[in-house]
Amino acid sequence: MINASLTALRRALDDKQISSVELAGLFLDRIEAHNPVLNAFITIDRDGALAAAGDADARIARGAAGPLTGIPLAHKDVFCTEGVLTTCGSKMLANFVSPYDAHVVTLIKAAGAVSLGKTNMDEFAMGSSNENSHFGPARNPWNTAHVPGGSSGGSAAAVASRLVPIATGTDTGGSVRQPAAFTGVTGIKPTYGVVSRYGMIAYASSLDQGGAFGASAEDCALLLSAMTGFDARDSTSLERPPQDYAAALAPVAGAGDKPLAGLRIGLPREFFAEGMSDEVRAAVDAALDQYRALGATTVEVSLPNAKLAIPAYYVIAPAEASSNLSRFDGVRYGHRAADYGDLNDMYCKSRAEGFGAEVKRRILVGTYVLSHGYYDAYYLQAQKLRRLIAEDFRRALGECDVIAGPTTPTTAWALGAMGDDPVQMYLADIYTIAVNLAGLPGLSHPCGFGAGSLPIGLQLIGNYFAEGTLLATAHQYQQATDWHQRRPAVAGV
Ligand code: GLN
Repeated sequence: MINASLTALRRALDDKQISSVELAGLFLDRIEAHNPVLNAFITIDRDGALAAAGDADARIARGAAGPLTGIPLAHKDVFCTEGVLTTCGSKMLANFVSPYDAHVVTLIKAAGAVSLGKTNMDEFAMGSSNENSHFGPARNPWNTAHVPGGSSGGSAAAVASRLVPIATGTDTGGSVRQPAAFTGVTGIKPTYGVVSRYGMIAYASSLDQGGAFGASAEDCALLLSAMTGFDARDSTSLERPPQDYAAALAPVAGAGDKPLAGLRIGLPREFFAEGMSDEVRAAVDAALDQYRALGATTVEVSLPNAKLAIPAYYVIAPAEASSNLSRFDGVRYGHRAADYGDLNDMYCKSRAEGFGAEVKRRILVGTYVLSHGYYDAYYLQAQKLRRLIAEDFRRALGECDVIAGPTTPTTAWALGAMGDDPVQMYLADIYTIAVNLAGLPGLSHPCGFGAGSLPIGLQLIGNYFAEGTLLATAHQYQQATDWHQRRPAVAGV
C-alpha cells in the first residue's frame, strides 16, 4: 500500500481491501517513525486526519467517492488550514492557527482527501534548500546529509520517502519543480491563475502559484484536478471550466509504440550551452533519446533573455515580498516582542525577532528597489525584462509543443554547502525562474541519478494552459521508464 499509485489506492479503498482510516494510520505511523530524521513535517495532525478518514469511509460506503476520497496527503505549511497550525516556516507565525482554509484546502477537503499534516518549507517560501526554515531543515531521503531542495522541501521529501502519497506545494521561482528534481518525484506548477492564491500566504503575488507533488505524472494529474477552479476571492484566479487532467493522459488511439508521434520538443540552446553538470547533462540527454524513441521530435529553440531571469526575479520577488510581508507587524498575527517601548519599537522588535535572515534580506532589497529614485532604475527595468522573457517563450513555443531541459544545474547539495552566499543559491534556480516570470506551466519528472544516488529531474515547459500536455508527455515517458518508481532506502520503502 505504501508504494501504491493513487489509482491502485483508489481501487483498494473501493474494493474494501483497506479503509481510509487504516490507510491514514499506516502513513501516520510512517511519518512518526521517520520524521525525526527527515523533518519533512512541521505539524502532524493525527486526530484531524483520522476524523477526516472516518468521513471518507462513510462516503465510500455510500458509493459517493471521487478520485481522491480517502487518499492521504499533506499540505505545504504555506496553505492556511482552519484550526491547524499554519507557520509558513517562520517564527513570525509559529503560533498562528488559521481561522479559515485556503481555497486549495477547501477543494481538496471537498474531494474527500485526508490531510495528515503540514510540511516543512523555507521561511515564507524564500529559498531553494529548506535550510531557511525556522523549524530546521528538512532532509533529502536519498541522502540525509543533503538538502531536499526548496522551498517546498518538506512536501517533496515526504512524497519521495512515501510518508504520504501526494502533497501540495507552491512555486514562485521553482519551489515545486526544483525540490521534485532533488528528491526524485514528479511536480507540476500550473499556469499562473489556474490555482487560487486565496489563503496561500503571499510571497510574490504575481509569481506565486500552487502546485502538486506525486510519484508520477498520473498522481500529479489527479491531485491538480482537485486543486484547480475559479475563486472570486483571488482577483487573478481564472474563470475556466473544471479540468480533468487525468483523463488527458491517454495516448491518441492507434499510436502504438510511438505515443508521442507528432510532438515537437523544443530544446533551448541557452539551457544546453553551459552551467549544467556533466551528470545532469547525461541524464537529460538520455531522457531526450527516450522521448525520441516514443515518437517525439526535437528542435532547437532559443530563449535569448533567459539569462536575465535571475536578476529580474530578484528585483520583482523581493519588491512584492516587502509589500506582502508588511502585514506581519506583531499586531494582527503571530509573534510580538515581549519587551518594547513605543508602538514603533514594538513593530521593529517584533519584526526583528520574528523574521529570519533571508526574509529580512529580501524585505530590505525589496524596499530599496521600490523606493523613490530607484524605482525606475530597478523595478521598472525588471518588469521590462519580464516582458522580454515572456516574449522569448512565446516565440519558442510557436516552434514546438513543449520545451524540455534540465530542472536544475546539479543534484542536491550537502546541507550547509551554500554557506553564507545567498547569490550562489539564487543561481541554482536558473532553469525554473523564467517560467514563473512568464506565468507558464512547468513540470519536473525524475530522469536518472547522479553521484551518491541523488536524483536528477527533467523539466517540461508548456504554453499557457498546457498542463494536460505536460502531464500526458511525462506520463508516456513514465510508461516506458521506471525512474519514478525508484525509492530511497532511508525510510525502508
Ligand atoms: N528559490 C526561489 C526563491 O528563493 C524560489 C522560491 C519559490 O519558488 N518559492 O525565491
